[in-house]
Amino acid sequence: MYDILLKDGLVVDPGNKICSRLNVGINGSRIACITAKAIEGKKVYDCQGLVVTPGFVDVHAHEDLLNEEGALQPVITRRLLRMGVTTFIGGQCGVGPRDEEEYSRQYDRQGQPVNCALLTGHGELRELVGATDKYAGVSDEQLRKMGQELKKRLVAGSHGLSFGIRYIPGIDMREMLALGRIVRSFGGILAAHVREDCEPSIAAMEEFIEVGRQTGARLQVSHIGSMSGYGQMEQVLALLDGAAAEGPDILIDCYPYDAFSTYIGATTYDGDFLSRYGGDIRKIEMTDGEFKGPIPSMEVFQKIREEHPDYLTIGHVMLPEEVEMALLHPRVVLGSDGILLKGAGHPRAAGAFARFLRLYVREKKALSLYDAIAKMTWTGASRFGLRKGCLSPGWDADIAVFDLAQVRDKATFAEPDLLAEGFRYVLIGGQLAVEDDEIVNPYLGRFIKKVY
Ligand SMILES: [Zn+2]
Repeated sequence: MYDILLKDGLVVDPGNKICSRLNVGINGSRIACITAKAIEGKKVYDCQGLVVTPGFVDVHAHEDLLNEEGALQPVITRRLLRMGVTTFIGGQCGVGPRDEEEYSRQYDRQGQPVNCALLTGHGELRELVGATDKYAGVSDEQLRKMGQELKKRLVAGSHGLSFGIRYIPGIDMREMLALGRIVRSFGGILAAHVREDCEPSIAAMEEFIEVGRQTGARLQVSHIGSMSGYGQMEQVLALLDGAAAEGPDILIDCYPYDAFSTYIGATTYDGDFLSRYGGDIRKIEMTDGEFKGPIPSMEVFQKIREEHPDYLTIGHVMLPEEVEMALLHPRVVLGSDGILLKGAGHPRAAGAFARFLRLYVREKKALSLYDAIAKMTWTGASRFGLRKGCLSPGWDADIAVFDLAQVRDKATFAEPDLLAEGFRYVLIGGQLAVEDDEIVNPYLGRFIKKVY
């Protein structure tokens, strides 16, 4: 007799190469068995006609921030949970909590909607040593201190380091290699939002690959759709494949939309960005404020940029076929990359995982369900050494149960906060977090420290 029986669902578990109708038994917080035999459970969830998979692991998300009182408001994590995500990797693009210890304490105070693992944000290390000029390099003394702090954070449980090279153009090879070698010595992950998008993204990828070659660190290339989805995708994927065949392990993440999102004050909009993005400023949209909607002119753009650099924009500028090419590539996995400002922003925060299933598996049939689930669970999760993303006995019972015919993303650019549908159950640690598209327990997620 198991505590919980998930009865007769289509179990899709690429980590164990399983795709068939089976029963899943859970004891306490762990998977106990997967079997074709009839088994009994104290609680039985009928999964007939439903798909049973490991809870989705979002390898690229941005964590909710602590508010002024130092508390966590679960905004992004609620959206993630409602589309089947049970664990995310935050601290991406060089941006993470200033104080990771304090963040982990707050996270575990009462629990959050999903589990959180963090990379250390390179930008935070820079801030800490007073290297506040993003266009300048750091001194030897600053770099030494950053290295010390990074080591401290890795010892305390950080899963690696993320660079936002794009946002701190002053970073050079020396800085990346020094920090990358520390990450390598622990066996962590080194992630990067690379230096450039569009045509120059090719050279930018080469730069990051070189960091991997020289340090030996395992790499994660961030949201490749928004970096190279303008006609460079085929070449960049081939470049990354070639590099991975010879040297560093490379994971690539991508969100399933052909529009990016970033702050209007970000370096993305330095210089003549408009010619890179096709020359039409109306393709850039404000998510909030007086000018919510497409930006009417460059004048208005510059005015908002000066007055409200922290406002969020959306750029409808990538080529859909290039984003699709990335998503179908075996090395590319799903990441939502949601950033929100007062609840407004890009629909990917609430829709990415459901959209991927709806659009690419059910509607376009571009991917098999099995291959899609691999990109949402094991392929990414296995890189981080979590006991998640796979339904092996003894592993954490984080599970998503959904109706493939009903799964859909409701979030749109006009209404980004509409939550996904089609999820019958989501379990975290063997307990029910979602039932029939309603969150029934938003406190099951825990902070996951890396033990090297
Ligand atoms: Zn980024």
